[in-house]
Parts: sequence; structure tokens; C-alpha cells
Amino acid sequence: MGTFVIDTPSPEATERVGRALAMELQPGDCVLLHGDLGAGKTCFVRGLAAGLGCDATTVHSPTFTVMSRYPGSLANLVHVDAYRVGSAEELRDAGVEPGAPDTVLAVEWPERVPEAWPAGPIEVRITPVDTSARSIEIRVAQGTLSERVGATLCAKPCPSCRVAVGPFDTDWPFCSPRCRAADLGRWFSGQYQITRPIESRDLEEGTE
Ligand SMILES: [Zn+2]
Repeated sequence: MGTFVIDTPSPEATERVGRALAMELQPGDCVLLHGDLGAGKTCFVRGLAAGLGCDATTVHSPTFTVMSRYPGSLANLVHVDAYRVGSAEELRDAGVEPGAPDTVLAVEWPERVPEAWPAGPIEVRITPVDTSARSIEIRVAQGTLSERVGATLCAKPCPSCRVAVGPFDTDWPFCSPRCRAADLGRWFSGQYQITRPIESRDLEEGTE
């Protein structure tokens, strides 16, 4: 097992850890989310959705639906709430297919039907520290995924100034808006040139 613990200062940061994790996932993976009501599991799933290329703004707690499906550009996300589910058969009847090859499964209350999930899941445990700060423990079976997740979730040097940046920092992978802008500036300087002054009609075209 590779175990990673990340402390986040805010719900937004918790969401960004989910997004960073999602970038290392592959279709067929299963993420089991542990944590009490209000711990931030749905917030974390919103991050997973963003990382998989789903419309994260539509992610909501699946409490009354058992399952919500979000189509994504990298993989589909199926978000399951197993709180009221009694058996693996009941899950299948609701349309949940653990291990489906085009889908990442994210499960709240997985301990209600422990026999239903594929072997070797990614386990995420979210523990409140105070009203907005959380401690997030991510457990991954040893192997390449563990190495990739470790590399992703560790602080990395800002591409512009090399200061260490955690994946939950607002401007990740940059340390600040200033470094993000500096990097963008380098990008554009080689690729785009303005060959004449911008006129008012140029700006109007984009607003219609
Ligand atoms: Zn920087």
C-alpha cells in the first residue's frame, strides 16, 4: 500500500486534490470514499469529475438517486451513494457496473456493501480538522499507480520559479498568479504576434 496524507485548508483545496488524483486514474478504476456526513466527499468527487473532463458544476450528492453518471472527455464518472443499498445485486439493478471499462467509479459509503467493489480500489478517507480544513488520506495498492499518485500529490517545483507547490494550491502547478502569467507570456511570445493595432471592431466581433 502507498499511503499519502494531504492537509487542505478549504473545500476548494479538497476539490483540487480530487482533480489531481483523477488525472492519474484510468477507466475501470474504483475510488472508495470514507468520511462522515459533511466531511467533503461530494466536494472531492467534484474534483474527480473536473479531472476526468466532466462538467463538475453538475455534480451533487447522489443521496436520493443511488447513482449519478457524468460523461467526461477522459472517462465517464459514476458517483454512487451506497448508504441505503443492501446488496451488490441491488446495485446492479440500479445500473452500477463496478469495473466498467469506460468509467471511473466513485463510491460514498462503500462499507455498506463491501463485497460489491473490484479488488485493489483506491481508498480515500476525509477527516474534518475544523469547519473548512480537512485531512485527506489516500491509499493505493503498491505499483505504478501508487508511484504516479505519489508524484502527483507531492509538492513540486513551480515551473516558473521552482518554489515548492502542493496540488491543492490555488495556482497549481504554479506558486502564484504572477508565475502563471509569466509562463503564459512565454507560451504566447513564440506562438502569437499582433501584427497591427487592435481596433474597436476586432473587440466587437467577439461579443455578438
Ligand atoms: Zn513560481
